[in-house]
Amino acid sequence: MPYCGSRFQTVRRRTVEVPVGRVGVGGANPIRLQSMTTSDTQDVAATVRQSIALAEVGCEIVRITAPNVQAARCLREIREKFTAAGFGAVPLVADIHFLPSAAMEAVEHVEKVRVNPGNYADKKRFAVREYSDADYDRELQRLHEAFSPLVTRCKELGRSMRIGTNHGSLSDRIMNRYGDTPLGMVESALEFLRIAESHGYRDIILSMKSSNPKVMIQAYRLLVERMAREDMHYPLHLGVTEAGDGEDGRIKGAIGIGSLLLDGLGDTIRVSLTEDSVYEIPVARAIADKAMGLWGSSSPSLPTTDSVDPYHFERRQVASPGFGNGCPVGPEHPPRVMVRVKAESLPGTAALLGDPRLVDCPVEGILVRVDSEEGAAQVGSDLSKASARPAFLVLELDPGLAPESIVPALSAAAGTAVVFLRRFGAADAADLARWIEFSRARACFLAAAVVADDVPALTPSLLLPGSDRMIFTLDPDFRRGSGDGLRQSHSLGAYRRLVEALAAAGLRSPVWIRNVPETEVRGDNSFLSKLLEASFLTGGLLCDGIGDFLSIETEADPARAARLAYNVLQGAGARISKTEFVACPSCGRTLFDLQETTQRIRSQTGHLKGVKIAIMGCIVNGPGEMADADFGYVGGAPGKINLYVGKQCVQYNIPQAEADARLMALIREHGKWVEPALPA
Ligand code: SF4
Repeated sequence: MPYCGSRFQTVRRRTVEVPVGRVGVGGANPIRLQSMTTSDTQDVAATVRQSIALAEVGCEIVRITAPNVQAARCLREIREKFTAAGFGAVPLVADIHFLPSAAMEAVEHVEKVRVNPGNYADKKRFAVREYSDADYDRELQRLHEAFSPLVTRCKELGRSMRIGTNHGSLSDRIMNRYGDTPLGMVESALEFLRIAESHGYRDIILSMKSSNPKVMIQAYRLLVERMAREDMHYPLHLGVTEAGDGEDGRIKGAIGIGSLLLDGLGDTIRVSLTEDSVYEIPVARAIADKAMGLWGSSSPSLPTTDSVDPYHFERRQVASPGFGNGCPVGPEHPPRVMVRVKAESLPGTAALLGDPRLVDCPVEGILVRVDSEEGAAQVGSDLSKASARPAFLVLELDPGLAPESIVPALSAAAGTAVVFLRRFGAADAADLARWIEFSRARACFLAAAVVADDVPALTPSLLLPGSDRMIFTLDPDFRRGSGDGLRQSHSLGAYRRLVEALAAAGLRSPVWIRNVPETEVRGDNSFLSKLLEASFLTGGLLCDGIGDFLSIETEADPARAARLAYNVLQGAGARISKTEFVACPSCGRTLFDLQETTQRIRSQTGHLKGVKIAIMGCIVNGPGEMADADFGYVGGAPGKINLYVGKQCVQYNIPQAEADARLMALIREHGKWVEPALPA
């Protein structure tokens, strides 16, 4: 059963409306924005201050941790003071881990309770054992008894609930039966959902968070598919957890949340950042506005699904076009990065290629526009004088240029793979054949910008000798349709359709993801918008296994465009170019200053390309979220840190003052340390 109405356009998933106090979530409501306070909940004044600050920047639902009964009791006063400050309409949510007693207290005071099915009434022991069916049933019975009082109290008081599964904190029961998988995450939530439904309680919202956008995307898709089969229509809370800070945190959040919203899934969102929580709201607002702009734009005549398995990641199999120059292309190689430069900037290419800021994110291809025969000659002249050349040069050709007119540029490009970029419509089959032959004869490559609907008309030409030297990308004018009323609402869907059309024509050519103004859902000139749009399109495709080349042409500064491209690739797990940090956003449980610690550790380890370091304020999601981290720095007790190697805690309760040095020593011991490069 498909998990969404269409993978080619946004068809909003139909859900029931769940009231969270006076704020409706799901149904016909807009996407609700939420965040979380980071103060100690028992510091009532600070927590009220943070709640007000969040509400004032547009946060519609405020979550507060309740780590114990005393903290849960404080929620009464927090609610009263928040209401007295004029925010009675903004609901509060108690965030519960481990303690049913804290949940039973919190439900008396706030509009919604979040439970984590991985640890509610469950102490995680990481025990590896076989659960027989009888053992498993006994565990479920125990869970039923532990969870039912909260369900019945929520029902009596008209409170809503989030069953919030985290990849990092699945129960031993689930881990042993389903493993650390999206399926395990889904089953974990369904166990709790069934108990709630057995009491006739349905004011429930669900989430499936992970710090890995791919895992998160698959888990939500699987959850929706399972719910659809059981005729369940609960709203979804979307989020990528422990995403980190800065550009990287925003990118990871936008990849996971954006990709699902474009598929029509998601009713409330939280962008987790290791920054003051007020900074989360403008990012969430921008993501939600882009996605909501697509609601109601769907075309009934578009197909609904494609041949990608949405529940398992697999890189699309492509045939290499034979790029040499140390820049091979194909499923076993990372996507290649190119940047657009203005023709007049071509003489500065050597400086760009040698830019010390781009050592770990090298520009591999240069894209330049060629409008005339003189322009082609100038490109050739500039190239012949350049002291360094890219691995490949893409010439975006004016449609009026004949193949012969670009010969002067070619002779100067020896040693660089040359790619011609041209648009081809359904009526251009003969033209396409000419360009394929020219590219073959000149040992060049052809990048064809097309739309899916035109591929059948072009197929006879695409089967000619030389088409194995082709790359495909989406025609920026993809929204034009093909005259029969078909209109694509977003470029992610248009690329997916293009890949389907290529498969139907028997073509396994590489795909180039181009981020241009036309592919944006709702672009503006801010860097945040460019970053979010690139994450939606590029991240969405990469998480489907699609994409062999990448350019972010919406950013005019080539060095910045290259860095953004690499950051999106890293966020999607498609190409690692630097240290990966998994850092929680912090909350009232946090045992040290997350922001400062993250910055400090980053300053010491930011040069360790490929090393993954998790920094967690407490143990709640610690070991699980660090499943694929190399090292972990986790709050163990006030002033004490636990250090991990993988999932294994190797140093307990060490004084915080010693923790950085001990972490560096651990990294050395495990052979992952390299000395930072000296400044030039
Ligand atoms: S891991 Fe961080 S955000 Fe999560 S509960 Fe612990 S301190 Fe709070």
